[in-house]
Amino acid sequence: MGSPVTPALVINERWCRERAVAGEDETVIREDGGDLSGQVGLVTGASRGIGRAIALALAEAGLDLALAARGQAALDAVADEVRALGRRCVAVATDVGVPAEVDRLVARALAELGRLDVLVNNAGVDAHGTVEESAVEDWQRVLATNLTGPYLCSRAVLPAMRRQGGGAIVNISSGAGKTGYAGMAAYCASKFGLMGFAEALAAEVGDQGIKVSTICPGTTVTEFGGRPPARQAGVKVLLPEDVAAAVLYLLRQSPQAWTSEMTLWPFRELPA
Ligand code: NDP
Repeated sequence: MGSPVTPALVINERWCRERAVAGEDETVIREDGGDLSGQVGLVTGASRGIGRAIALALAEAGLDLALAARGQAALDAVADEVRALGRRCVAVATDVGVPAEVDRLVARALAELGRLDVLVNNAGVDAHGTVEESAVEDWQRVLATNLTGPYLCSRAVLPAMRRQGGGAIVNISSGAGKTGYAGMAAYCASKFGLMGFAEALAAEVGDQGIKVSTICPGTTVTEFGGRPPARQAGVKVLLPEDVAAAVLYLLRQSPQAWTSEMTLWPFRELPA
């Protein structure tokens, strides 16, 4: 299946081409139209919701994939969907907050798929309750998954990306990574922390050809936090596929362009 090219990319390429032809600069022009086939991606939290949508979008775009989540059965089901799209896929039950499990995940991905071009740090959990009422175990669980997880996964893939001469790391933060909400201190702290982590990592590895980006989605229709999907009258929401499209947009940007942060807002209510 061919990779659709977004209108923004087409405009960007035409602009670059015209300037280069006119001898105005030495801008790098993508000759591949943002073709990602042959690349290998690793998606965490890929067993449902936003992570599943990202995995399927990457597979449709031509990437072979390593998938991670704690539950093996649901992960295997998504891996079957990826293979049905004609891609290779390895599904490794992993808690992203546990260093040895992350190291094993990345080792298996490299052993079975040969390289790693893209990491999507998507796995996330939440916890509700005021700071006073909340349990310290909930605080630690949220921080371990949402903040330590991206740190461990990024650290584990960097040597391979550097050897290959570049790569992309996309972090799924949240609107709660930019605004604090009552009753969500642990979640907000983890996502604010992820923003800072991503900014620092981008500064560290940018000159190694590794682009680090963060997407902050608003409310998205998933089963996050065990809630029923918020597809109801009066509620503006995103679909998981909207976040997946944003990831693809970042990956298809021309080599000279880098989006450090993208805020994705729900724009209207969905039909019930
Ligand atoms: P879901 O609950 O639907 O999916 C979460 C995924 O993460 C599952 O695959 C889950 O699998 C996995 N996961 C959870 N904990 C761990 C862990 N410790 N190690 C590995 N995998 C783990 O959530 P969403 O798809 O809605 O959320 C995905 C990301 O998007 C999260 O980071 C979330 O914070 C963010 N986000 C979500 C929004 C929303 O409104 N839905 C809005 C903004 C951001 P398993 O339980 O088997 O491990």
